[in-house]
Amino acid sequence: MYASVIVDIPSKSVNQVFDYRVPEGMLDILKVGHRVLVPFGRRTIQGYVMKLSEMTDFDLERIKEIARTLDIEPVLTEEMVIIAKHLADYYIDQYISVIETILPAALKANYKKVLRLAEGHGATAKRLLESHQQGGEVETRRLPAPVLEELAPHLASGEIKEETVITQHTKKKTALAVYSLRHPEVELSRAKKQQELLDVIESSSEPIFIRDLAAEGFSNHLVNELVRKGYVEKVERQMERDPYADRVFTLDPPKVLNEEQQHAYDRIAEMMDAGEPRTFLLHGITGSGKTEVYLQVIQKVMDEGRNAIMLVPEIALTPQMVNRFKSRFGDDVAVLHSGLSHGEKYDEWRKIKEGRARVSVGARSSVFAPFENIGAIIVDEEHETTYKQGDRPMYHATEVAKFRSRYHNCPLILGTATPSLETYARSERGVYERLELTQRAGTKVLPEIHVVDMAEEHRGGNTSIISQTLKEAIDQRIERGEQTVLLLNRRGYSNFQICQNCGYVPICPNCDISLTYHKSNSSLLCHYCGYESAVRRICENCQSDDVTFRGTGTEKVEEILRDMFDTEIVRMDNDTTRRKGMHEKLLDRFEEEEIPILLGTQMIAKGLDYPKVTLVGVLNADTMLNLPDFRANEKTYQLLTQVSGRAGRHALSGEVIFQTYNPSHYAIQLAKGNDYRQFYEKEMAFRRLARYSPFYFHVLFTVSSEDISKCLKATSHIHDALVDAVSDKSIIVGPSPSPLERINRQYRFQIMLKYKREPALLEVLGGLDEYYHEAYRTEGVSLRIDVDPQVI
Ligand code: ADP
Ligand code: ZN
Ligand code: ZN
Repeated sequence: MYASVIVDIPSKSVNQVFDYRVPEGMLDILKVGHRVLVPFGRRTIQGYVMKLSEMTDFDLERIKEIARTLDIEPVLTEEMVIIAKHLADYYIDQYISVIETILPAALKANYKKVLRLAEGHGATAKRLLESHQQGGEVETRRLPAPVLEELAPHLASGEIKEETVITQHTKKKTALAVYSLRHPEVELSRAKKQQELLDVIESSSEPIFIRDLAAEGFSNHLVNELVRKGYVEKVERQMERDPYADRVFTLDPPKVLNEEQQHAYDRIAEMMDAGEPRTFLLHGITGSGKTEVYLQVIQKVMDEGRNAIMLVPEIALTPQMVNRFKSRFGDDVAVLHSGLSHGEKYDEWRKIKEGRARVSVGARSSVFAPFENIGAIIVDEEHETTYKQGDRPMYHATEVAKFRSRYHNCPLILGTATPSLETYARSERGVYERLELTQRAGTKVLPEIHVVDMAEEHRGGNTSIISQTLKEAIDQRIERGEQTVLLLNRRGYSNFQICQNCGYVPICPNCDISLTYHKSNSSLLCHYCGYESAVRRICENCQSDDVTFRGTGTEKVEEILRDMFDTEIVRMDNDTTRRKGMHEKLLDRFEEEEIPILLGTQMIAKGLDYPKVTLVGVLNADTMLNLPDFRANEKTYQLLTQVSGRAGRHALSGEVIFQTYNPSHYAIQLAKGNDYRQFYEKEMAFRRLARYSPFYFHVLFTVSSEDISKCLKATSHIHDALVDAVSDKSIIVGPSPSPLERINRQYRFQIMLKYKREPALLEVLGGLDEYYHEAYRTEGVSLRIDVDPQVI
């Protein structure tokens, strides 16, 4: 038997399988998807088994043997092996980098570390085994994964019983627990609740976690009373790591679906029963009850003993979504959070792999959740660009989801209020089945939207960033004890510093971009590379002291609002949410303390659902319109619709104010009228004329180098290669400087290929990629090939 192995060497030149002989003792154990250690040159390295076969083209005299396996069960399922290959081919990348994207980072440990661990744990495993053979108990659930790996052969042979194995690597984390000091004579007759609590604690032979008591309705205060009276004592106990452990979720029962929801549910359920991998577009206005449909579809999936994957754009920004899933399904939900440590991610991954979780909720990479029997996949806010990975491999999660839906013969549901043009166009052609939710759930209606022309506002003498209309509306909310959400898509204090004597603007030495002034730490910061310098009050160019700041960011608006309304404000942007858990903390404060105003960048546009929010203000609706990207109008429409959807979701009705310098622009006007259909038609006309997606596919080539002449030479080489290779129906745009021409000392030039059909394209791209992989080593020129780019 021979195994074809992808080895962990991130180089184009070894982007292929190597065959190894499978040693006798491994014949029954080794499967496709196993991690192995193999000799490679004079080293031993980690690899993944992609194929097992009785034949090999390798020279039988020289073929080497697999040294050892690293896991009890294969880490990659057969499905993942196929996906890895598909993604590497489609997105022009290396197999090993795709495999490492699919697996949790904790498994990428380099082979030396693995070996060292294995040796250290080998001794532990040996001791355990001896103790076990002498009748001792092996508590496998407490063992770290490497020890279990050592024990694998003994497990395989039945020497140790399999059912005792829970390979969860338990993290040492403690929480407070209480136990009874056993005063049988205690009678707390006048404190019934305390007596009840004491009974609960006494009935347990082990200390009970205080958080578990809280979930049962016993408050911290009550526990402390018993401690104070000396009936119980607090101790620290170890617990398995669960990032949501200290939260209490109240059970949320399913709602009776309205007619449109029911129709959507029925269609999805029908396809699920038929085992048809259909893609649905669930197009529902904000607050129309899409999430309720997801939840009920998932309930059906679980009732049938299958699993579901729920993708959200960015989980840190959608804590309320996690709450709803936890409230409905409890511990059956695994949350794959970008804020988790490697160890925590690995824990959640194992939870799924071992069948202890039934549903996963997570961002982009959780589309690889290792379920083996998927009944439905859901992509919420399908239009979001975060579903496309910005680094290699530059995969799109929806594409992976489609692949998995076909593999498992289950429906895929793309939900949004503002579909991407590509998705809506497919629903028009019947490639996807469209389901519409046109009303807000319950008796709620969409908020009323007003557009304020800021140019007129300035002519009328108000030069503030807050228009008179918005000011009055906020005042009203404060008076009525309601809340306001304000969006300004620009962080920092001022956009840039300028010398009023000579016009000099300090720019980043690495990026040719003006530096943003941050007042809190008195610095000028580059938002692209992180370069930071202290503010100087004297012009570097002419030594004049007549320097000033222009443009307004969230930090400054916070000051303005505080002066204007004399009230507390919660500000949410990259600067205030850098620390882990800050998103949730700030949102909790906004809700619980009923702070009148929440000000933030676009991170506040998604998912928020607070009953007292009745006003949403967009301070500058034009920021996205001016981006040099053919999707600028689409992004503007989407952002305005999303953020408007935060207002009036409950009993109180909502109002929205857009401030803009382009009051008649169709993206703004149609967002105001909530007319997606007309926006789609207008935007499609523009796309057709300019020959952009969805009428053409795109590939974006970006060349970068510190040496501008090398950039130019490389782009003209790529241009010529494309002219030779593609059909004359395809369009090659460029070379031209990238919208941000220099970042991190690297010059950047780009070429865009637009095509409808290019059967041989993959080979051309593969060739170019290989060539520039080498050129990077020798000449410092790199090429990035972005297939189906999201951001130009
Ligand atoms: P979306 O995901 O489309 O923004 P949600 O699912 O969050 O909408 O629903 C908006 C609000 O309406 C939520 O508070 C939800 O609990 C409620 N809701 C959803 N469906 C129903 C229903 N069928 N009956 C009553 N309330 C509902
Ligand atoms: Zn100057
Ligand atoms: Zn910079």
